[in-house]
Amino acid sequence: MSKVSIAKCESYEIEKVKSAIRESIEHLGGVSSFVKPREKVLLKVNLLMRRKPEKVTTTHPSFAQALAELVIEAGGKPIIGDSPGGYHFYTKGTLEAVYETCGMKDAAEKSGAELSYNTDMIDVSYPEGKIMKNIKTIRPVLEVDKIINIPKIKTHMMTVYSGAVKNLFGIIPGSFKAEYHLRFEDTGDFADLLIDICMFAKPVLTVMDAVIGMEGYGPTNGTPKKVGLVISSANPYALDVAATNIIGLKPEQVPTIQRSAARGLCTINIKDIEILGESLEKVRVMDFKKPTVKVAFNFYNILLPKFVTKALNRIIKPYPCFKMDVCKGCGVCAKSCPPKVIEMKNGKPVVDLNKCIRCFCCHELCNYDAVDIKRPLFIRMLLR
Ligand code: SF4
Ligand code: SF4
Repeated sequence: MSKVSIAKCESYEIEKVKSAIRESIEHLGGVSSFVKPREKVLLKVNLLMRRKPEKVTTTHPSFAQALAELVIEAGGKPIIGDSPGGYHFYTKGTLEAVYETCGMKDAAEKSGAELSYNTDMIDVSYPEGKIMKNIKTIRPVLEVDKIINIPKIKTHMMTVYSGAVKNLFGIIPGSFKAEYHLRFEDTGDFADLLIDICMFAKPVLTVMDAVIGMEGYGPTNGTPKKVGLVISSANPYALDVAATNIIGLKPEQVPTIQRSAARGLCTINIKDIEILGESLEKVRVMDFKKPTVKVAFNFYNILLPKFVTKALNRIIKPYPCFKMDVCKGCGVCAKSCPPKVIEMKNGKPVVDLNKCIRCFCCHELCNYDAVDIKRPLFIRMLLR
């Protein structure tokens, strides 16, 4: 039976975070059962974009600092790293800017961890993959002995929820993520891709930053929501089942959970997971706002053949809508759009919805919350 450990954590004060992480990992055997002396450990944080910690888009730096200190206590060598999303070149300059703004530079200095500036990438054969037999990844993943996965609990307009499994998408180098979006347009296929990547990365431990999560229009333009927890597990798939249960999402609403269960990586039934530490009943946050626009439109994907759902998606799926009064004309959405269907005209984005694959990267990467997600009028009326 998979184990998931839950500890309360009321704030991001470093001593509180460290004590809650220590408590949650103790239930799983302690840090030394995951990290051996002299092992290099990649602390895979979520650094989706260059944003300050209080925006709750990225893993809070106190999690990186606390875990780095615990790894050092166990005799290991922590390395903090990620490959941010968007069109940016995956360069040392990009990483420096992201580490600085997201608080990771400070976390590394305080804890003694190294920051990864290795921007090499490598194609690795992965015959075990269900959908990906060859994975392009950032080289640090192959140069460490262990990976500790440190996601943030958030909603996501494409995948409904962003947690343990989704966080490993960050090992795909920078703008290559867009290529994967293009190749795996179907939500179910994309979920299988995320699972392949997670299986390839094989994190030994996942410690989720669920102190303050993001609800509503995540993963970048939602609203901060206090959950007050640290959630840990050696099984990232089971952790996602427990975390979504805490925020009131049903397992069948989350494509990565559906597909993980179908592949025998976890159970969809929370009763089949051993919960350690705090009980689920005491920590549930039932008013956590879900990305309802997306949730309502997944049902037919499993019922109809792919060519039908693809055509249907174009007609009834939610679509990106640009708020021209808020848009700053920065062009990030156009540069980040995987199929390149956004054109900047007179300094403002114009999208060709017939060619849009509804990946919502434009929504995810707009720094000004200028991309809304809308449902077609007749669907809105139907759902009234
Ligand atoms: S919608 Fe956002 S990302 Fe696109 S140009 Fe406007 S401000 Fe920039
Ligand atoms: S317009 Fe937005 S949602 Fe459509 S394909 Fe481009 S990035 Fe994805």
